[in-house]
Amino acid sequence: MSIGANIQAVRKDMEGAAVRSGRSPEDVLLVAVTKLHSPEEINEAIDAGVTDIGENKVQEVLAKYDKVKPVRWHLIGHLQTNKVRQIVDKVVMIHSVDSLHLAEEINKRCASIGKNMDILVQVNVAEEDSKFGITSDETMSLISAIADTCPNVTVKGLMMIAPFFDDPEMTRPYFRMAKKLFDDCADMPARAGVDMKYLSMGMTNDFQIAVEEGSNLIRVGTAIFGNRNYRSEEK
Ligand SMILES: *Cc1c(COP(=O)(O)O)cnc(C)c1O
Repeated sequence: MSIGANIQAVRKDMEGAAVRSGRSPEDVLLVAVTKLHSPEEINEAIDAGVTDIGENKVQEVLAKYDKVKPVRWHLIGHLQTNKVRQIVDKVVMIHSVDSLHLAEEINKRCASIGKNMDILVQVNVAEEDSKFGITSDETMSLISAIADTCPNVTVKGLMMIAPFFDDPEMTRPYFRMAKKLFDDCADMPARAGVDMKYLSMGMTNDFQIAVEEGSNLIRVGTAIFGNRNYRSEEK
């Protein structure tokens, strides 16, 4: 199938899941994950209506940025503080904030260019050693600390990556935990710098379950672009 047809199929499944969860189809944002795919493929997706794309490495954003049509770039992978400076002017949201130190660096670099950055706090609800992210227990205090010290950063919600199962149904309890945590955070007293709008969860294997459980932003790569060809040094 073509990239355009794949996008249509993903949208149909995403919208069906939104309706099953009692929401309207347009309540869920599709971020097309373009890592290891070419600018030509990305432009094809943009021509087919994609408005938001996600990359997990700073290097890939920089390599493709000038070759891709105007679109909203999201940084969804682990971010090292020493690379923040290179991307703050290019992305609209950073999904992978998992420390105050990283948020402070984003704040500093954004202040120097007069920008406010939307960020998501990455939560590892399953507490898997293989994944980045803070624990559920640490989440509210990190959000408060970011709001206290980072005027050029707005916490826009949470991001999580579910454990992988061949049967996506097995992911459901983890999405449910993340939604509960998200709702608890959204119920915190209103304060400047916090606007809990996005719950970023769901990938190719599990996005329908994620949306049924309350995700309103899915990050889908393989179902749109096909398999990625990893070289040995990348993973
Ligand atoms: C690669 C990646 C995705 C997309 O994964 P697919 O299974 O290809 O849909 C989503 N989120 C993050 C953080 C990723 O690194």
